[in-house]
Amino acid sequence: MTSSSPAVGKPPAPTSPLPPELANSLSPNTASTTGPQEPVRAGHCACGHVSYQVSGIPDDPHLCSCERETRVSGGPAVLWVGFPKDSLIWTGSGGEPNWWYPYPALRCGFCPACGSQLVSIANDSDMAMVTGFSLADQSGIEPLGHSFREHAVPWLHITLAPAPRTPHPAPRTGSWA
Ligand SMILES: [Zn+2]
Repeated sequence: MTSSSPAVGKPPAPTSPLPPELANSLSPNTASTTGPQEPVRAGHCACGHVSYQVSGIPDDPHLCSCERETRVSGGPAVLWVGFPKDSLIWTGSGGEPNWWYPYPALRCGFCPACGSQLVSIANDSDMAMVTGFSLADQSGIEPLGHSFREHAVPWLHITLAPAPRTPHPAPRTGSWA
C-alpha cells in the first residue's frame, strides 16, 4: 500500500477560475437546467445498470496514472473531466452507484454490477469528476494534463498500437450508446 501519500488520486483543482459570466451560469440555482449554454451529456457504466447526466462546460479534462486509479481501471490511465457537482443526476434503473472512499473527503462511485468507475467527488470541490469514457459524447474532453505522469508506464506514449489480429468480441449487452 502507498496510502502514506495523501494526494494520491485526488483530482487536481481547476487550474483557472471560470469567467464571471460563466460561473454565474453554472450556479447551483441554474446548473440543472438545460439552457443552450449548458449542454447536457449522458453517461453510463459498461453494463448499463447505472447511468447519469451532467451539464455545463467540461472542466480540467486530464489523465491520471496514480496507482489507485490504474488498479481500479485496469489500464495505464483514467481520463477525468469535471462538471458542476450540482448538475450530476443519476438517471438509470440502478439509481446511485456504490461508493467507496479512498480518502475520507473523496468518494468514488462505481456500478455494483459491472464495476465500472464513473465519478470521483471531493468534498471541497464544486465539481464532480466523471470518467471521460463513460460519456456518450466525448467531444471537447481531450486531456490537457496528466496527473501522476511520473507513475505512468513508459510505453504510454504509444497512442495507436497496431491493430490486433483478431477483432474485439462484440459487447454482450446492447447498452453501448
Ligand atoms: Zn454496470
